[in-house]
Amino acid sequence: MLVIACIKQVPDTTQVKIDPVTNSLVREGIPFIMNPFDTHALEEALRLKDSYGIRAAAISMGPMNSEMTLRKALAMGVDEVVLLSDRAFGGADTLATSMVLAEAVKKLSEKDKDGLALVVCGKQTIDGDTAQVGPGIAIRLGLSLLTLVDRIEELDLKNRKIRVSRKLEGRHEIVEAMLPALLTVVREINKPRYPTVPMRLEAQEQTVALWDNKVMNVDEQLIGRKGSPTSVKKIFSPEREKGEILGDGVNDPDGTAMMLVEKLVQRELLML
Ligand SMILES: Cc1cc2nc3c(=O)[nH]c(=O)nc-3n(C[C@H](O)[C@H](O)[C@H](O)COP(=O)(O)OP(=O)(O)OC[C@H]3O[C@@H](n4cnc5c(N)ncnc54)[C@H](O)[C@@H]3O)c2cc1C
Repeated sequence: MLVIACIKQVPDTTQVKIDPVTNSLVREGIPFIMNPFDTHALEEALRLKDSYGIRAAAISMGPMNSEMTLRKALAMGVDEVVLLSDRAFGGADTLATSMVLAEAVKKLSEKDKDGLALVVCGKQTIDGDTAQVGPGIAIRLGLSLLTLVDRIEELDLKNRKIRVSRKLEGRHEIVEAMLPALLTVVREINKPRYPTVPMRLEAQEQTVALWDNKVMNVDEQLIGRKGSPTSVKKIFSPEREKGEILGDGVNDPDGTAMMLVEKLVQRELLML
């Protein structure tokens, strides 16, 4: 059986630059990392491999330099990685992204004699932040969808069942579902392992399969810009009013505190 982790390469910064003309990310000159939530997805896939002896694969859709992120997945211990990269995949919204990823999951699963057990995604990315891609893959493939998972309580491969804990606002929910299932995971689920230097070196020699659309053969109307019914109209950072420094808090703390109280009263934020 197979577990597949979906991992996305994202900019290693919160200062993401946006092209004002195309409204898409400027990827040049920015260091990239594996989306932090996806390191937990990958770790969970590897723990399932370690505990149940199932094969673990990782897939990523993105530009050619996403190979770096997939090599990290190899170094951490996955058996197989696939980079989904083609100009035809570019400019995708979440619908078109999940289309390509779902097709890749299907294709990889067909290669495994016992088929798919689980797909593991991060809760969301730190750049797109939509949390739509995991559910999009599940819906296209008819997988059970379990979001915000913070623990796999039980996996019963024989009876094709899984029981997980979901981390919700102020409470936990224990849910059972049939396999194959797609999980989106939160940070609390595990502590990702660090690949050792020998494992990193070994990963440099391993194969990163490249699947373009000649291999994938997905209808071009359903992928990339053509397959994206939504487009970003405007992206901007919220502008904040410049702050005001009141008095001299070091030499006159009482006077400064009074000035602050007066300001708050003036703005009706404090009633005396
Ligand atoms: C309206 C709209 C228009 C867009 N237009 C463009 C565009 O023109 N050009 C452009 O570059 N981007 C564009 N994007 C961004 C692009 O759609 C997202 O990068 C992509 O769909 C992933 O969405 P997300 O980052 O919100 O992932 P989320 O849904 O937050 O990710 C959840 C999980 O899904 C998995 N996942 C997500 N993306 C990938 C991936 N690529 N490979 C493997 N696993 C993945 C990961 O496990 C991740 O943790 C657009 C997004 C929107 C909403």
